[in-house]
Amino acid sequence: MLSFQNTYSELPDRFFARMEPSPVRAPELIKVNVGLAEALGLNADFLSSPEGLDMLSGNRFPETAEPIAMAYAGHQFGNFVPQLGDGRAVLVGEVVDPHGVRFDLHLKGSGRTPFSRGGDGRAAVGPVLREYIVAEAMHALGIPTTRALAAVKTGEPVYREARLPGAVLARVARSHVRVGTFQYFAAREDVDAIARLGRHVIDRLYPELGQADRPALALLETVVERQARLVAQWMSVGFIHGVMNTDNMAVSGETIDFGPCAFMDFYHPGRVYSSIDHYGRYAFGNQPAMAQWNLAQFAQCLLPLIDEDMEAAVAPAQAAIDAFPALFEREKLALFSAKLGLSEPREGDGELLQELLEAMSRSEADFTLTFRRLAESLEEDTDRGSRSLFVDPTEFDRWAAKWRARLGEEGVSLSEIAARLNAANPIYIPRNHMVEEALQAAVENDDTGPFETLLDVLADPFTERAGLGRYALPPEPGEEIRQTFCG
Ligand code: AMP
Ligand code: MG
Ligand code: MG
Repeated sequence: MLSFQNTYSELPDRFFARMEPSPVRAPELIKVNVGLAEALGLNADFLSSPEGLDMLSGNRFPETAEPIAMAYAGHQFGNFVPQLGDGRAVLVGEVVDPHGVRFDLHLKGSGRTPFSRGGDGRAAVGPVLREYIVAEAMHALGIPTTRALAAVKTGEPVYREARLPGAVLARVARSHVRVGTFQYFAAREDVDAIARLGRHVIDRLYPELGQADRPALALLETVVERQARLVAQWMSVGFIHGVMNTDNMAVSGETIDFGPCAFMDFYHPGRVYSSIDHYGRYAFGNQPAMAQWNLAQFAQCLLPLIDEDMEAAVAPAQAAIDAFPALFEREKLALFSAKLGLSEPREGDGELLQELLEAMSRSEADFTLTFRRLAESLEEDTDRGSRSLFVDPTEFDRWAAKWRARLGEEGVSLSEIAARLNAANPIYIPRNHMVEEALQAAVENDDTGPFETLLDVLADPFTERAGLGRYALPPEPGEEIRQTFCG
């Protein structure tokens, strides 16, 4: 049995709606993440038991749970919507892991809530498994993210463009508070609620900030730093979130709400996969600017907490937002210089990186393989390295000559550099065509074998293993997935 704590549901009633279970007909386990369950101190056997299944499907909650749908607002593609909220999700409760870290257990696809608007409150097997795969891949890549604890089939259909099998995803996060949660109360001019929410977030995620001179300003600065690092990490693995609306930005700095996201195959900063992102607002290269825009909305919400005198609040808040580009560039350069095999960035490394990225974009070279094969490019006389990914391989050669000169300054052997490169550049990422293949098998043939195999491959993304060649390769022309869809 699971014992929950409930700090969020102790907040005032206007923060959420209390939920009853909305049972599904025939819940059936697809997968329990045993490793995660153990890390959280949860009993994996319980999760797989009939009672566990009852909880994971939203059919019945343990007595200690206080299930709620959280209220939030958000800017969707730049347009403010004052009420969104958990329209197909419940926060079941909070668990504290053996290290004392508190996590939310959240079900997605668990039925209608007062925030559902026109929606059915449900999710389909495909998008649930997609979030499962991508979240676990992110985690294995060392990027902060919500994680998948379990996936359950409901035995009921959902109607999208077609009749699809339904599912519920159980996920965990350090917190589900979003920029949009603050916006919900700011839109209502509910300063008391913003103050309570700010205290909740600080107590839970950033207790050291409670001692700061101006805790709300320190919170803003911290969230700015977290997001700068997070977006730099996304970009270091070619990840495109796809829907960076303010309701999909967690103040914990975790990646949240995997919808039409994608890991890019062929590099171009303008790359977009999401079928709903018609103007490329959330294109790969736009992500830092969009994160900063979202953070400015967050800052706006915090102004009344930063200083009672609005005018005195604006300058420090603005300074915190203005700091974003430099913080992002610093994180990006640190991550990418490691991807080039450098121990730390020096003068000129930014230009070296930029030159490579520009050449990659001219050739639309595969992002993951270009970096992964840098190690092989160090070998003498190789055509196995990155160069073959360029339309004009001599363009790579010209860059590589400068790169080798820079590596010479590192004062370590090339084999040591090669080891560094392989530790910084994953070989296995959740490539869209492999993800689609796994989902298709699960949905159309009830075969979760490819899903399980893909999870195993992605759990160790930096270690090349025999027999996994196809997971490392970009799609063939007929296999390429150019568009991804919302769940
Ligand atoms: P998203 O863009 O998926 O993060 O969702 C935006 C908003 O739409 C959130 O308030 C969701 O809870 C809500 N939503 C998405 N899909 C559904 C659905 N099938 N039923 C009810 N609400 C939904
Ligand atoms: Mg309420
Ligand atoms: Mg969302």
